[in-house]
Amino acid sequence: MNYISTRGEAPKLSFSDVLLAGLANDGGLYVPEILPRFSAEDIASWSDLSYQELAFKVMFPFVKGDIPEVDFRRMINEAYADFNHQAVAPMVQTGSNEWVLELFRGPTLAFKDFALQLLGRLMDYVLTQRDEELVILGATSGDTGSAAIEGCRHSDRLDVFILHPYERVSEVQRRQMTTVIDDNVFNIAVKGNFDDCQSMVKASFADQSFLNGKKLGAVNSINWARIMAQIVYYFSAAISVGAPHRPVSFSVPTGNFGDIFAGYLAKQMGLPIDQLVVATNQNDILHRVIANNDMSRQSLNVTLSPSMDIMVSSNFERLLFDAYGRDGESVKALMAQFNSGGVELEAKAWNFINSHFDSYKVDDKRTCEVIAQVFAETEYLLDPHTAIGLESARACWRDKSVPMITLATAHPVKFPAAVEKAGCETPVLPDHMQDLFERQESYEVLANDLEQVQAFVAKSS
Ligand SMILES: *Cc1c(COP(=O)(O)O)cnc(C)c1O
Repeated sequence: MNYISTRGEAPKLSFSDVLLAGLANDGGLYVPEILPRFSAEDIASWSDLSYQELAFKVMFPFVKGDIPEVDFRRMINEAYADFNHQAVAPMVQTGSNEWVLELFRGPTLAFKDFALQLLGRLMDYVLTQRDEELVILGATSGDTGSAAIEGCRHSDRLDVFILHPYERVSEVQRRQMTTVIDDNVFNIAVKGNFDDCQSMVKASFADQSFLNGKKLGAVNSINWARIMAQIVYYFSAAISVGAPHRPVSFSVPTGNFGDIFAGYLAKQMGLPIDQLVVATNQNDILHRVIANNDMSRQSLNVTLSPSMDIMVSSNFERLLFDAYGRDGESVKALMAQFNSGGVELEAKAWNFINSHFDSYKVDDKRTCEVIAQVFAETEYLLDPHTAIGLESARACWRDKSVPMITLATAHPVKFPAAVEKAGCETPVLPDHMQDLFERQESYEVLANDLEQVQAFVAKSS
């Protein structure tokens, strides 16, 4: 399988090269040149598979030619071995024909474990084969950081540097990162917001000279392998409620557009998906684009769902590439325009996006009401991101005979502020995190300044 850049100028690469490169050298993102397609018969024949076996079926076409079958199976089995539910991604029913897909059963209690448990192993595998090392540099709005650290900490070919916005992640989120004391793990609190962290990472990838010859690797969802791993649970969830014999809809709490983009790919690969609902908090650029063709930057709001406090959704570029007929030149021009303020999409592109996505926006007040209401009715406690997903699902659901599945992206224990505001009791930490608040922390606080951050990375790697 070959991969091409959304801006049309970078070289075509194989899976292994894309895995290590992250961002394309023309500033674009890599996407598969051709998507694999599965027939209804293929999908029907998968109904008895374990999550791991299904993961192999869905993902193998993307790595074929680069990773041998036996090695890929082994990495998949290892990646999902530490999840605390046999089904890996279990479903819970919250209403008539309405479901929540629990994606928080991994070691760091957010859906990012699905991709990063596999990504760390894939990188270690390819680097070992090539006898190379890599400096991982990532930005986190809270959950990517801990999942990346957990996924990469055991590799002696990776050094991991994670930037998080100082005092803007929850204490549980921060401690999940900063209490990992390993020689190859470095946490940096940047005195800025998530977009500041993300743009430092982007700038560092564009010009890596500060690293004196070492190479950077990406764990953000600009890395194709993350998207790939997230396609799997759309298949597992849909099959469990009757696909391919009936269509299914999904609602996805969205920040960087990675998770829901994986759902769009599942649809393109043959999964019968009726609706894909983009659920946003007050930081609603994606809702504004989809509803009003208004893709303009606004200032960032701090909300009770911090993992979605993002203004620039990197992965939206992957969708724009399809919406503009896979014309890299148009995407390049569009992104340049967007970077200088805002753009309106061509009618054809906007219609394409509208044919695949619905969208909805939920503010903090409503988020808390939904948490309280669902708990009162069912004793099921939602995290704030999932609450936004569920409320959006209910608002956008066209055909109640089609099962609606909301992706539960994190465990509520990670977001006590929202849970308390909703008037619910914070759940207890799971066993493996019982002593989280007593563990020793280690992190650097740095100014919102690219040179200082790069100097720290260069000196410590
Ligand atoms: C990262 C994250 C999101 C947003 O996912 P994207 O792939 O960036 O859209 C939503 N909820 C939680 C809990 C997250 O950690």
